[in-house]
Amino acid sequence: MFEKEIVIASTNQGKIKEFRAMLEPEGFLVKSLADFPDMKEIEETGKTFSENAIIKANAIVEAYGVDAIADDSGLEIDALGKAPGVYSARFLGHNTPYEKKNSIILERMKNKTNRSCRYVCAIAVCIKGQKPIVFEDSVECTISEKPMGSNGFGYDPIVFYKPFQKTMSQMTDEEKNSISHRGKAIRKFEAWLYEQNK
Ligand code: IMP
Repeated sequence: MFEKEIVIASTNQGKIKEFRAMLEPEGFLVKSLADFPDMKEIEETGKTFSENAIIKANAIVEAYGVDAIADDSGLEIDALGKAPGVYSARFLGHNTPYEKKNSIILERMKNKTNRSCRYVCAIAVCIKGQKPIVFEDSVECTISEKPMGSNGFGYDPIVFYKPFQKTMSQMTDEEKNSISHRGKAIRKFEAWLYEQNK
């Protein structure tokens, strides 16, 4: 059974902040890879978000014998053959600032009529001795014509959500969490947890 402590197998501060905002009010102690500095780097060799999420959570379970959850997420742009996809963090170089990555994407999207894209998030729950369980969801968006907003992280300034007429970066944290890929996947995970603890 899942205890109240959850290790998020990530060092991405933007993502950890979003997990904390959603799971701490539910009474979880949210830890991250920053709490396990001796953990060796986890290679994301999966071809899907779901495979990578399982790889990351399993690595924590094996190294520390604790239950772990991990997410793998990214942006799929249809006109670019669903790139950057599972390579979202590594796309155009791990250390390249997102301002630069986003401006290169806008350049590549010049004259593209199909600007549809989506954020996808897979959350894997790995409990020692049990089969992994994955919760996945996505949010349909379009690539904006120019970067807008300063909230959020990563590709958020160029990811436009039509129902709100805002990019992810123009939303408050609450607005983003209410419609985001991660928010939706977390709510599926929470519904499952609730069933387990009934
Ligand atoms: P991961 O940490 O390997 O799952 O890679 C996730 C990457 O996908 C991030 O580093 C971003 O490039 C991108 N990404 C995923 N979710 C978001 C989001 O909510 N906003 C902006 N970028 C995101």
